[in-house]
Amino acid sequence: MTDRPIYSIVAPVYNEEGNIQPLYDRIREVMDTTGEPWELILVNDGSRDQSLALMEALAEQDERVRVINFARNFGHQTAVTAGIDFASGKAVVLIDADLQDPPAMILEMIERWKAGYEVVYAVREQRKGESRFKVLSAKLFYRIIYRITDVDIPLDTGDFRLMDEKVVAVLRQMREHNRFIRGMTSWVGFRQTPVYYIREERHSGVTKYPLSKMVRFALDAITGFSYFPLQVMVYVSVVLGVLALLAIPVVAVLRIAVGPGFLGGQATTIVLLLLLSSFQLFFLFILGQYVARIYDEARNRPLYVIASTRNLDVESVPAQLSAPPARISVPHSAPSARIEKAEVDVQGE
Ligand code: UDP
Ligand code: MG
Repeated sequence: MTDRPIYSIVAPVYNEEGNIQPLYDRIREVMDTTGEPWELILVNDGSRDQSLALMEALAEQDERVRVINFARNFGHQTAVTAGIDFASGKAVVLIDADLQDPPAMILEMIERWKAGYEVVYAVREQRKGESRFKVLSAKLFYRIIYRITDVDIPLDTGDFRLMDEKVVAVLRQMREHNRFIRGMTSWVGFRQTPVYYIREERHSGVTKYPLSKMVRFALDAITGFSYFPLQVMVYVSVVLGVLALLAIPVVAVLRIAVGPGFLGGQATTIVLLLLLSSFQLFFLFILGQYVARIYDEARNRPLYVIASTRNLDVESVPAQLSAPPARISVPHSAPSARIEKAEVDVQGE
């Protein structure tokens, strides 16, 4: 292995065959101007196209390119997590593989980092080449999150950011299963500062975030950082209770005044029943979202499973495992990883 890199660039890859080479070219061009050692960690999140072969070919040519190959698709946030776990730089940069985040911005981030900031996050001033729906839903999403969460998660900010090793060390200890990395980084604290950029169009391919994944992501963000959905139940229940209390005398009076037929009949009852059941089921759904996440944590499965790696010290590590902070060093020490593997086998996972 070469010297310890100063910079680790982490990119999650899911079916990005058209972007691997251009990404590498642009990163290399930008990072070589720093004159300092760097590494590019590509995490293959279960791609079904030629991405892995292309990544491995790059790793063959340039040993600064490291490859982590997941055993299946574990999702964007988990892929980023693995990259963070294995990064050895003093500063770690998260970037999308589709070149929507311009690599040249990294230099600006590095400047801020050298000026003493521990987190430099990139704020999207404008988004190009994305559907109206995506842009609007994203805008709304960031604003809702901002209002209802307990940590200040900056608006219009994706995962494109630079983090100091101090922050990375804390993130490695945060092994929650439903991950919202931009929120988690905000939570860590330290000195954080924005840089502004225009989000480019995807270089090649289509978005890997269909609506279903976007909804899941939003739910992870909200449940991970806010109890607001649980608290809102009490307001609804108070409003409905007050309405019911008021309705009793009102209905009684009207029945006497207008006649016994007033508001009578099944229709009213059925409509109210449907409405109230819908409220109740909605809140049960919210409750379920939190409960399911508690279940995820209770099972404490590994966050991801690695099938193979390239240019990493840990060719032999079969699985990266979640759980207690002390174990996070797993990527750099194969023996303890084996012990963990054994434990996992016992659990039948
Ligand atoms: N990605 C991933 N696993 C997934 C979905 C996406 O690793 O299950 C990667 C993808 O290859 C890309 C990044 O995450 O590098 C962001 O995804 P995408 O560009 O599709 O999201 P969008 O920019 O459309 O929100
Ligand atoms: Mg993208």
